[in-house]
Amino acid sequence: MHLIVTGGRVLDPAAGTDGPGEVWIADGRIVPAGSFPRDGAETIDASGRLVAPALVDLHVHLREPGNDAAETIASGTRAAAAGGFQAVVAMPNTTPPLDDPALVRFQIETARAAGFADVVPSACLTRGRKGDEVADLDALAAAGAGVFTDDGSTVMDDAVMREAMRRAAAIGLAVMDHAQDHDAERRGVMHEGGRSRALGLPGIPAGAETRIVERDIRLARETGCRLHIQHISGRDALEAVRRAAAEGVPVTAEVTPHHLVLCDDDIREPDPSYKMNPPLRSAADRRALEDAIVDGSITCLATDHAPHTAEAKARGFLHAPFGILGLETAVGVTWDRLVRSGRMTPLEWLRRWTTGPAAVLRRPPPSLAPGVPANVAILDVDTEWTVDPSAFFSRSRNTPFAGWTLHARPAVTIHNGRVVGP
Ligand SMILES: [Zn+2]
Repeated sequence: MHLIVTGGRVLDPAAGTDGPGEVWIADGRIVPAGSFPRDGAETIDASGRLVAPALVDLHVHLREPGNDAAETIASGTRAAAAGGFQAVVAMPNTTPPLDDPALVRFQIETARAAGFADVVPSACLTRGRKGDEVADLDALAAAGAGVFTDDGSTVMDDAVMREAMRRAAAIGLAVMDHAQDHDAERRGVMHEGGRSRALGLPGIPAGAETRIVERDIRLARETGCRLHIQHISGRDALEAVRRAAAEGVPVTAEVTPHHLVLCDDDIREPDPSYKMNPPLRSAADRRALEDAIVDGSITCLATDHAPHTAEAKARGFLHAPFGILGLETAVGVTWDRLVRSGRMTPLEWLRRWTTGPAAVLRRPPPSLAPGVPANVAILDVDTEWTVDPSAFFSRSRNTPFAGWTLHARPAVTIHNGRVVGP
């Protein structure tokens, strides 16, 4: 099949280019302009729109196997395509947990059959995500795991974490950590501060994150393992990452759209759509995260797309599970805050969603260069739309962004040369 995307503003974060152009696609790959006769080829008019490599999301919960009511690999990757993504890293806190090479292969193959986006499984760091015995990282990597994490829980035993990082370093894959000291977290449900006290809800102190981030950095220094801090939320943890990276420690971090635009003061009433882990932190933390994304000391945006059924989220703020959706609002929420506000160029913003995440996975940087698979997002960035969760492709509806007016959204997503979304 031959396809030409015409009339758009073409951004290639790998090449660092931004300007008018065309993207030519044949047999699922980008090809040089003029590779086939223009007559008879299918065209997509991208006038007034951005044409970019589709995005990569380092942090997505697909819930399969184990919780099909909340999401499946097919529905989650369909939501990813609608959101402008070409690849998502699936978190291993499925039921059973992803500590078995057969399950890694199952996720990859199920996504391939659905055809909407690539799934890069993250495999468990420890058996059963229990934190006491390192999983068979070699076998999991051989099956196709792209990274290791026990996301949702932190490996609290330093010796186990050290051994996991030592083995991951030998394989060459990164370790990602959900950094949260369980002892300090206790039974908290939101950021510990004035707002949690006003609402009478148990808090999670920011220090619970800082302590583990500092521990992980020490272990990365010792083992040489590449370390990626998931959904970083507090400014002290952020400073620790910034200092370590400046000293040459191989550490990166991601910020979620919700931590970038919301803080604990936005929780006016105990609405479980605002309950996630780590929690929305203070206004000062939020500002520090935004500054770090803008200045590049944080190289990745990632959604932490965490679907939950309406029943589960209806249990109230104390008892509802942590997490909110992200895939179908990520472009709009982050574009408005970072680019429409004038703080970042479109190309720099795109890097946080493409080359930054790909570097963590050691995948080739997303690009529009001839030869690469044609994974393209055509973005409408001069529009106005209102977030309507009932229109989501995800099986779940849990978002704090319902009713928000946003100004950017994918118009067309192409995966391996095929139009797959929105
Ligand atoms: Zn997490």
